[in-house]
Amino acid sequence: MIDFTIPAELAAERDRVRQFVIDKIVPYERDPRLTAHGPTDELRQELVELARAEKLLTVQAPVALGGRGLSHIEQAVLYEAAGWSTLGPVAMNCAAPDEGNMFLLSKVANQEQIERFLQPVIDGQQRSVFAMTEPNGAGSDPNQLSTEAVFDGENFTINGRKWLITGADGAKTWIIMARLADNPHLPAGPTLFLCDGDTPGIVIERIMNTMDRNYVGGHAVVNFENLVLPADSVLGETGQALRYAQLRLAPARLTHCMRWLGAAERAQSIAVDYAKTRTAFGKTIGEHQGVSFMLADNEIALHQCRLTIWHACWLMDQGEKARHESSIAKSYVSEELFKVTDRCVQVLGGIGISDETVVEMIFRDMRAFRLYDGPTEVHKYAIGRKILRG
Ligand SMILES: Cc1cc2nc3c(=O)[nH]c(=O)nc-3n(C[C@H](O)[C@H](O)[C@H](O)COP(=O)(O)OP(=O)(O)OC[C@H]3O[C@@H](n4cnc5c(N)ncnc54)[C@H](O)[C@@H]3O)c2cc1C
Repeated sequence: MIDFTIPAELAAERDRVRQFVIDKIVPYERDPRLTAHGPTDELRQELVELARAEKLLTVQAPVALGGRGLSHIEQAVLYEAAGWSTLGPVAMNCAAPDEGNMFLLSKVANQEQIERFLQPVIDGQQRSVFAMTEPNGAGSDPNQLSTEAVFDGENFTINGRKWLITGADGAKTWIIMARLADNPHLPAGPTLFLCDGDTPGIVIERIMNTMDRNYVGGHAVVNFENLVLPADSVLGETGQALRYAQLRLAPARLTHCMRWLGAAERAQSIAVDYAKTRTAFGKTIGEHQGVSFMLADNEIALHQCRLTIWHACWLMDQGEKARHESSIAKSYVSEELFKVTDRCVQVLGGIGISDETVVEMIFRDMRAFRLYDGPTEVHKYAIGRKILRG
């Protein structure tokens, strides 16, 4: 049975997270270390230490690795509170791509890989990368993967070009997707490799200039130039990368929804305050139906988004993969929350497009959410195919 009651302990923790973000993290939103290419590593470290002091760092990690092993519903409640500031998830170490990468590694990595590549990320000491998208290959369709790994019985040699790789600059834990060429030793096909970011052959060409600036290190163009990795660099089994990517993506796309829900609520609260105080034509603008309807539409959308997220989380907490429901949630929530934030900009009038309030930053940062972890059209394509298959 679905129960929408938030247990008292979880509600108290949600309130504590929200207060932590308001008191300690929001003041950093005007820090110059929040650059056009995202928060710097120095800023991230400072924020991480604040969360560590409050025992709010990486709370989602498995208990055996130092976290609290949160259920999906518990994550939904706490990440929404963390998302009040786009820096909240950075501080609490539950931002992309680390959050999804930690989830994947905790499910697939062996003990040695956990100690070397996962534990330091959980501890907030290093960052991680998931390198899949390519300018001339994998994108919406990961089957087009063009980066190639050649195995000689001892080592893999990887060559290829990736872009939009979040956090690549300065990250130590790298998960690289490459197509293993036919060879006499191992099953070929799309494969995930794990390596250190300092390995020779990983060349960061440049950091792209993008609309958003909420991800540490921004998004990079990366070349793999004869990157040589030993045989034990494979994550899981060879030929299984697309299956592992799905394992990562279903929960990861939901956690994006949770965090952006918190950010949209923040935008709505600012728009509501403005509507209560700004006057036009003899009354507050909120008293004009045109404005109150925009705020009402926002409230309806925020509520619907929360229920959609919670339902997919509930299914996953029952042990279901919930791929269909998480696709529905990702496409619906990303589109709706973007509309919510756009209406908040509108309610704020001209000031809405300035950085006088954080709404403008939320609006720009949120735009990319409709593209990553599956663009809306690709989710609809998958949903449509499922419907037609019956
Ligand atoms: C901010 C940001 C961060 C990212 N971080 C990472 C990262 O860390 N690692 C990584 O590997 N990738 C990352 N990406 C890349 C992201 O995963 C891709 O942008 C996404 O998968 C879409 O691929 P594409 O950009 O190549 O678009 P394309 O595949 O070129 O698609 C272009 C358009 O065609 C549409 N389209 C495609 N197929 C269909 C269809 N069947 N029906 C209808 N329309 C369709 C798409 O919806 C889209 O609108 C990031 C992207 C962004 C914006």
